[in-house]
Amino acid sequence: MIIVMSPGANEQQIDAVVRKVKEYGCEANVSRGVERTIIGAIGDERAINQETIDALSGVEQSMNIVKPYKIVAREWHKENTVVHIKDVPVGGNTVQVIAGPCSVETQPQMDDAARFVREAGCRLMRGGAFKPRTSPYTFQGKGVEGLEMFRKAADAAKLPIVTELMDVRMLDTFMEWDVDAIQIGTRNMQNFDLLKEVGRVDKPVILKRGMSATVSEWLMAAEYIAASGNHNIIFCERGIRTFETYYRNVLDVTAIPVLKKETHLPVIADPSHAGGKAWMVAALSRAAIAAGADGLLVEMHPNPCEAWCDADQALTPQELKSLMADLGGIAKVLGRDI
Ligand code: PEP
Ligand code: MN
Repeated sequence: MIIVMSPGANEQQIDAVVRKVKEYGCEANVSRGVERTIIGAIGDERAINQETIDALSGVEQSMNIVKPYKIVAREWHKENTVVHIKDVPVGGNTVQVIAGPCSVETQPQMDDAARFVREAGCRLMRGGAFKPRTSPYTFQGKGVEGLEMFRKAADAAKLPIVTELMDVRMLDTFMEWDVDAIQIGTRNMQNFDLLKEVGRVDKPVILKRGMSATVSEWLMAAEYIAASGNHNIIFCERGIRTFETYYRNVLDVTAIPVLKKETHLPVIADPSHAGGKAWMVAALSRAAIAAGADGLLVEMHPNPCEAWCDADQALTPQELKSLMADLGGIAKVLGRDI
């Protein structure tokens, strides 16, 4: 840690900082400039309480040298990590598209959806049984019955399933239904107790970005999961909230290369919740793949007009098929496949 003293800091104030740094088990290297004194704290800076240092009189500011996240950081693990959802690798050379409806509705809807996902060439299926809805009066998801329908439909099409966990009390049920990847939604990105619990199971976790979360907060959220023991984490950029109201959210394409630089874990994008309209999905998907995303999470409904949730952003089965063909070309240019 580097501690910058204010221009007028006196010797007693400098000594007090040095004493505090030593109390934390670090060495203090005092460097006196013409205008300011800078103190370098050498040792394990995570042992230092930065707020305590900042509160000492005469301290202008302090800066950490080491990143606050460790297990998820590329700094400590240079190679890309490939996370397997059952036998499907995410984060390797193949771009993976996870497709399916926003929510599980009925058995025929899920059976049809699974068939269309497979026919389009996708290897993973999404579908929400527990839905985080803005209004308590709208459809909240089919719950456990939805997991059962999803499992049945996806098993018949041989597709691993991805579904959102909102409540820690449902984790055992998710394990019983053998959910292949647990999605932590935007609204729960900083639900630290939930993150710790999914950190204790061996299922891959897709961690969506919080609506207004910084990249650093998002990485720290992933670190919570990793620190509890589960390193199978996939980041999902799903758009952030801005002043713009034309579209649902702004797909933060910039975050994709930034995350790829900061973490060795796979990064995917959700163009459906970003744009909020089906007609934007293809363009946003192309942008995300071109920016280095390892995959996509896309909403597709057998009959979008009839969808119980997010009807406006669902692709038709035919649109999903053409999207896959379209993305094949982009992946090829990048030396990847799909
Ligand atoms: C979803 O993927 O079903 C969902 C609710 O997305 P988000 O958490 O990104 O809003
Ligand atoms: Mn949705």
